[in-house]
Amino acid sequence: MEPRILELRREIDRINRELLALLSERARIASEIGRIQTELGLGHYDPAREEEMLAYLTAENPGPFPDGTVKKLFKEIFKATLALEEQEDKRKFLFSRETRPEDTQVRVRDAVFGGGAPLLIAGPCAIESEEQMDATAAFLAERGVKVLRGGAFKPRTSPYAFQGLGVEGLKIGRAAADRYGMAFVTEVMDTRDVEVVSEYADILQVGARNMQNFALLREVGAARRPVLLKRGLSATVEEWFYAAEYVLSQGNDQVILVERGIRTYEKWTRNTLDLSGAVLAKQLTHLPVVVDVTHAAGRIDLLAPLARAALAAGVDAVHVEVHPNPKVAMSDNNQQMDFAQFDAFLSQVRDLLEPAAAKRG
Ligand code: PEP
Ligand code: MN
Repeated sequence: MEPRILELRREIDRINRELLALLSERARIASEIGRIQTELGLGHYDPAREEEMLAYLTAENPGPFPDGTVKKLFKEIFKATLALEEQEDKRKFLFSRETRPEDTQVRVRDAVFGGGAPLLIAGPCAIESEEQMDATAAFLAERGVKVLRGGAFKPRTSPYAFQGLGVEGLKIGRAAADRYGMAFVTEVMDTRDVEVVSEYADILQVGARNMQNFALLREVGAARRPVLLKRGLSATVEEWFYAAEYVLSQGNDQVILVERGIRTYEKWTRNTLDLSGAVLAKQLTHLPVVVDVTHAAGRIDLLAPLARAALAAGVDAVHVEVHPNPKVAMSDNNQQMDFAQFDAFLSQVRDLLEPAAAKRG
């Protein structure tokens, strides 16, 4: 190699290193600004500030690069800096896998969510009577289901529809679960009910319609009970994670995320199961993830295929509604399985479930 070129290349190498050191120093200072902006609740992107910097850089441009090139180079630097600030923002979230790389396990009696072996959560939409809950719990426990569901406080679209049995329902649900050694999950809709629901339930469910009820999220975050957090009807994945963050930020790290279908233009299913959302939840958070196929599909013929898809995608549990006699159920009667339908469902998903549920039935 020509010695003059060699020498000049060494000069270029030295400048590259200096540029890199300066860029790194610039990035550190920009990150510090980013942290302060976050603390103050301000965004990182400030177009006026970028314009100002580009203006003095072009004014002071000594050449040989034309102004357009200088602008282009610095815009790349601004873009990379912004991306860095945004990434640092995400890293600090409690839900994030970057904050906690290992899976969070939620243990409730015999059930472990996120323990590697997928579970089933099953039970009627609403708790209607002692007989109904007893028959359902007996049937499900016999098949190895460890988590019994049933609503005592029901979020109904019409204020004139059955609203649930309230505290009486909580008692019935608790007693049925105890009789068959199951864990009991039920919805809490009001901050004023968190205490009484915690008294009877093992897991507090926050329903889709309340996913952004921030007062409720804070209240269940302060309760010392695991929280089953359903994704809102029209919530983005990010909004769902932020809702989880509300609970986690109160010191309660026992959060289970539930994808239950989102509202789309599709009419042949009640909602549209967003399997990508469930997989994103597994990848980006450390929390256990459940797919509620009943509320997602709203029709029984889709439950087993959707459950198989969800389990194959790696979710920690599947949620279904089961009722001794769905025709006379007081809510969601088109989508609840009767016992024979549940047995058929189980036979189709059994091989993907934890051994306890897989053995029996
Ligand atoms: C339910 O679980 O019965 C329920 C009302 O679900 P969601 O909040 O997902 O509609
Ligand atoms: Mn329901």
